[in-house]
Amino acid sequence: MASSFFLNTGMKPALYVHIPFCSAKCDYCDFFSLDCRSREDKEAFTRALVRQLSFFCDRLKIDEFPTVYIGGGTPTSLTPESLEMIFSAIARAGGKLPLEWTVEVNPESLSRDHLDLFSAYPVTRLSMGVQSIHGPSRKFLGRRGSLKSVYAAFDLLGKNWKGKLSIDLIRGLPESASLLLEEELAMLPLSGIEHISLYDLSLEEGTPLALRTGKIGARNDSLPRDIESRGFLHYEVSNYAKPGNESLHNRSYWEMEPYLGIGPGAVSLLYGNDSWMHQSVRPDLNLYLRGKPEDYTEIEYPSAVEFFIEHLFMGFRQVRGISLEKIERRFGHSLRDIIPRTLGVWADSLSIDTEAGRLALGPEAFWIQDRFFLDAWKELESLNPFA
Ligand code: SF4
Repeated sequence: MASSFFLNTGMKPALYVHIPFCSAKCDYCDFFSLDCRSREDKEAFTRALVRQLSFFCDRLKIDEFPTVYIGGGTPTSLTPESLEMIFSAIARAGGKLPLEWTVEVNPESLSRDHLDLFSAYPVTRLSMGVQSIHGPSRKFLGRRGSLKSVYAAFDLLGKNWKGKLSIDLIRGLPESASLLLEEELAMLPLSGIEHISLYDLSLEEGTPLALRTGKIGARNDSLPRDIESRGFLHYEVSNYAKPGNESLHNRSYWEMEPYLGIGPGAVSLLYGNDSWMHQSVRPDLNLYLRGKPEDYTEIEYPSAVEFFIEHLFMGFRQVRGISLEKIERRFGHSLRDIIPRTLGVWADSLSIDTEAGRLALGPEAFWIQDRFFLDAWKELESLNPFA
């Protein structure tokens, strides 16, 4: 691990904690997740995670996390006791209360004890991996929890959870195995849900689903209208929220604000005085349990062009687009100076909010934004303003 890493101190990064265990692997999953290990493994993991958190907070002099996100894997595959060890380490390290603290939960492993723990800490938001509320769709996806467990989880939350609730749904299944999105929405208790993340199913090489199906003839649902008509605003490619309920934590990714990721497989974006870096933790549980941060941390310094393209790529995912002031501050040039040709070609498809100082892709261009990035990339290849 490069020693210059430790020059980057005094940041207030968002915190992401990766819990890599799941009760079983879903057929479409290519994330770093491990079938549930023994209790001993999970306890050893918890201790390693707390050590890693304390190591980075000390070295980077972090004393505040604006937002916290505990994701996975399945965080609720840990016992409430293990989660409490992690939560109290975060509370000790972070000091001030975060603005938002999210925990990912899965219906089949969520318990009343988990909810009591969340209420004892400043957890403000749960994100539940529902994926589908239709039995044949869940079977097609190889989701382990039954439909009954999904209804039971909604019931448990309705009675015992006062914070915000987000759910994940997957669309793009074949017609023979799925309902229309609007039919699924009609079956969900939307009055208790403030946020929906809607992902397209993708067939990742080597997953059981890809091996089983080869390819998928996806249902052609009309999105965002179905969700918007139920009071959710579309604010990012895959995300919809009732007004004021956008994910603050995920927003820090899209805004390229610093974040610290801990746990095997997690990534970070960290800033120094005049440099930036991606740091990742190798997805290797054994190394994580036995090694020191120096052994499992990898660091990469993206070039200015790569970092700029990443700003475009992340920022334009948001319906509100990117901050022009931030581009100028971070790159020392205005957007117009960096990619004048691309902005010219796409002029009719861009919308500027002068008051907020943001530039966005209009409704048509929003869904074909890859073409915009390709044009920007080609322009920077032919004339690099950062050279
Ligand atoms: S619950 Fe999520 S992380 Fe775990 S196997 Fe299923 S898709 Fe992967």
